[in-house]
Amino acid sequence: MGKVYFIGAGPGDPELITVKGQRLISEADVIIYAGSLVNPEILKYGRKDARIYNSAEMNLDEVLKVETEAVHAGKTVARVHTGDPAIYGAIQEQMDALEKENIDFEVVPGVSSFLASAAALKQEYTLPGISQTIIITRMEGRTPMPPKESLSSLAAHQATMCIFLSVQMIEDVVARLTEGGYPEDTPVAIVVRATWPDQRIIRGTLSDIADILHKEGVLRQAMIVVGRVLDTDYQLSKLYDRNFTTMFRKGQS
Ligand code: SAH
Repeated sequence: MGKVYFIGAGPGDPELITVKGQRLISEADVIIYAGSLVNPEILKYGRKDARIYNSAEMNLDEVLKVETEAVHAGKTVARVHTGDPAIYGAIQEQMDALEKENIDFEVVPGVSSFLASAAALKQEYTLPGISQTIIITRMEGRTPMPPKESLSSLAAHQATMCIFLSVQMIEDVVARLTEGGYPEDTPVAIVVRATWPDQRIIRGTLSDIADILHKEGVLRQAMIVVGRVLDTDYQLSKLYDRNFTTMFRKGQS
């Protein structure tokens, strides 16, 4: 019998897959990858004769059919997800279905985009005295949020927040966070396509980030990072703000 490996491909840069993930892809008979987010460069690790499927064009039943048939034919399947599959990866339903069919599978973790975003920002999320907690969450989309996890209730902690899948709803995000307790001057960093060649970082505060994003036209594949830990950079840039007085320079207002 073959086996299915759920593999975290990392955030974009093909070198950010684990050594184990890369090896399993290079050995797989069948590769199913989430074409909307996984960097197709990862496929270059695969065998030339591997059968390749893009799950962006398939529904759950079709994916399961490919996985089940391959395993019954003694083949190995690399099911490649973006970042780490445990975060918004929709793998539970696949794993539960495979378990029912008695199909052997294993999960290989990956570098999630919220960590790639920290690296891009050169930022520690857990600064002593500021925040020791990271909240990973999202705005309600087609997937509803459980009532106890509304963005405004999570905002009450004023911890470091990494908000996935929500940049297209930035006004709502800002409104929920502000109503939940973050002051309007709380720094926000948007990391767009972390680790891809066109990675961008956009900074602001809760009061101006929505306007800045509209001007930049950012609509997808971005991480919203919110919290006082970002203040260090924020204050640094304040130092050169023309309205800001320092020991050596008088501000203009
Ligand atoms: N399992 C993935 C998340 C999948 S949900 C992980 O662990 O990263 C897709 C969301 O992840 C996107 O809407 C975006 O918020 C975030 N994302 C994925 N790749 C990203 C990247 N390279 N840079 C910034 N955000 C990214």
